[in-house]
Amino acid sequence: MKLTKGSLELGAVKAIPIRIHWSFLLIIVYIAYLQISEGGDWMQVLWAIAFVLSLFACVTLHELGHAMAALRYGVRTRGITLYPIGGVAMLERIPEKPLQELAVAIAGPMVNVVIAAILVLILWLSPVEYRLEDLKQSIGSSNFLLQLAAVNIILVLFNLLPAFPMDGGRIFRAFLAMHMDRVKATRFAMYVGQGMAVLFAIWGLQSNPFLILIAAFVFFGAAQEYKMVRSASYIRLHFVGNAMMKNFTRLHVQQSLADVMQIMLNGQEKDFVVFHPNGEPAGIMTRDILIKALTDHGTTISIESFIQPINQSFSTDMPLAEAYKCMQSEGLSIVPIIENNQTIGVINMENILEYIMFAEAMKSE
Ligand SMILES: [Zn+2]
Repeated sequence: MKLTKGSLELGAVKAIPIRIHWSFLLIIVYIAYLQISEGGDWMQVLWAIAFVLSLFACVTLHELGHAMAALRYGVRTRGITLYPIGGVAMLERIPEKPLQELAVAIAGPMVNVVIAAILVLILWLSPVEYRLEDLKQSIGSSNFLLQLAAVNIILVLFNLLPAFPMDGGRIFRAFLAMHMDRVKATRFAMYVGQGMAVLFAIWGLQSNPFLILIAAFVFFGAAQEYKMVRSASYIRLHFVGNAMMKNFTRLHVQQSLADVMQIMLNGQEKDFVVFHPNGEPAGIMTRDILIKALTDHGTTISIESFIQPINQSFSTDMPLAEAYKCMQSEGLSIVPIIENNQTIGVINMENILEYIMFAEAMKSE
């Protein structure tokens, strides 16, 4: 078991790590406290804890539902973390096509529909007769599965409320995005989500403190996601030529490791394009490569045998969003910008992010 950022790793499914956040302990303590304050004995406390753990097993399957649906569209999931207010699947990105987003969002609640259906079938086939009134009694052996079925149905209904960025809100945004621009659709979904969050908070004040936490998560999550969608769509209108660096250091294949070390110490640049004597780009030199080469070979040898081949170059009229995606997915540190067989500039990730910040600052919406 590993501890990362306050979460304990329980295991992995299809290379997706499943973690439980430390604050999850609070819910166990809270449940035990509720039972004892209502005059319950230890047996009832244990049943209640077993119930919460089963509920969170269902929540994990719900999140895996999202992750598996995303995988169908080539989107991986970095991990699933369980918090007291629910689970979070960290998808690498949200599919932008409305139908794909719809499928990924609905896959989670569908898992709970299936679980509820299986539980109802088991209850129906069992010789014992269950009545809905049993739901009012505290959890024990006689109504455990009935309660679990009920809570799965509640999970489905709650998740389908159009409270963006909850599942129902994502489904709502996907429907909107079929008829309007995605940024506009997200803004509309955000307003509806924040309205619902206010209702959750009011409802939570009277009944359940966890609802207040969920309300905060929805309220701020909606605003944050809207901002992200807006910047992503914004750089779509910009091109590599706008953001590229025209002042950059040109390294040559004959330069020694010591030369390059001095250049790195003298300036801010960490990644370089290396050129042949005829002016054509030969490869890439980075700080990490330099450090490794210095450790293994000393300082006098030329950089030629250490440079990485260049597999990618951009043109000035390439959309910035596309360049960003390409660099991110292929893990490129620096890319030359080539026009008429001349390298007229270079671009790196910091450059692009800096450009987005400037562009956003100038355009206030
Ligand atoms: Zn979900």
